[in-house]
Amino acid sequence: MTGAAPLAEMAGVSVRYRRAGRLSHGLIAIDLQLAANATVAVVGESGCGKSTLGRVLLHLQQPSEGAVRFRGEDLTLLKRAELRRRRRAMQMIFQDPFASLNARMTIGETLAEPLVVHGLARWRDARPRVAAMLERVGLEPGVAARYPHEFSGGQRQRIAIARAVIAEPELVVADEPLSALDMTVQGQIVSLLASLQETLSLTYLFISHDLPLVREFAGRVVVMIAGRIVEDGPPDAVFATPAHPYTKLLVSCVPVPDPAQERARQAAAGNTSTIAAAEAPDHAACPFRSRCPHAMPICATMPPFRHVAPDRQAACWLHESS
Ligand code: SF4
Repeated sequence: MTGAAPLAEMAGVSVRYRRAGRLSHGLIAIDLQLAANATVAVVGESGCGKSTLGRVLLHLQQPSEGAVRFRGEDLTLLKRAELRRRRRAMQMIFQDPFASLNARMTIGETLAEPLVVHGLARWRDARPRVAAMLERVGLEPGVAARYPHEFSGGQRQRIAIARAVIAEPELVVADEPLSALDMTVQGQIVSLLASLQETLSLTYLFISHDLPLVREFAGRVVVMIAGRIVEDGPPDAVFATPAHPYTKLLVSCVPVPDPAQERARQAAAGNTSTIAAAEAPDHAACPFRSRCPHAMPICATMPPFRHVAPDRQAACWLHESS
C-alpha cells in the first residue's frame, strides 16, 4: 500500500499459544496495512489464522509481539479505559448471528446499547436512531420490540450488522458473515454491506473461504497459510494467475457450476484432499513446503515477501530468480 497513511496496520505481529506444554503459532510476523474505505479479504483454509488476525486487528486479542495501529496509535500500548474509548471506531460482525445477539434483549435494546455505551445517546433518546438504522438495513422500525428468536437467519444478520455500524465505526471486521446463510440471502447481505460502506465510509476486513464472493466484493485479497500471509494483491489478478502455489491450490478447489468444467477442474486439481493434509509446521521453512509440487532445498528457509507485480506480493522462492 502506498500514499496516505493506513487507517489500520499490523507490523511484525505474532501470536503464540502454549498448549499441553507445546508452543504453537496462531500468527507469524504479520505485516498488513488497510487503507481507509478499502475492502481487504482474508482467505485460507480453516485454522490458518484468519479469525485470529481479525481479532488481533481489533485488539480483542493481545499479540505476543508486534504493533497493531489504528490511525497511527499502537493499540497494544493503550490502557484499558483508553482502548474502550477507541472501540466505537472498530467493530466486528460474526459468522453466527444467533450467537452474536443477546437472546434476552429486544432488538431495540440491542441496537441502542452501543449508542449508550459510547455516550452517543441515552436509552430514552436512542429510539429514533434505532428506527433509522433498522430501516437502513431493510427492516421495519416496528421490529424493535421483538426478540432475536423471532427472526430468520438473514434478518438476524441484518440486525447484527445494524448493531455493528450504528455507532458509526470506521473499521469493521466481518468474520465469515455469510457462511451461515443460504445463497439468495448471501447476495442481499453483500449488497447491504456494500451500500453501508458507501454511505458510512467503512473499511472492511472481510474474512471468507468463498473465493468467488471475495472476487466480487473485495478490492484486495491476502492469502494465509499456517499463520502467515503468503500472497497479497487484487482478487481478479491473484485468482486468475496465482503467484503462490498454495493460492493455486485454493483456486483449484473452488467448484464451478458447469458439470463438464467441474470434471475438468477436478482432474486438473488431482487429489484436493491435500488441502487438509498439512503436517505440523516447521516455522523456519515455507509453510507450504510439505505439500508443494515445486519444493526445493531452499524452501527449508522461509522466503521473503516480495513484489511480483507493482500491486502484488508473494512469499515463494520460485519468484526469487525472476
Ligand atoms: Fe513451494 Fe518453495 Fe514456493 Fe514454498 S517457497 S511455495 S515450498 S516453491
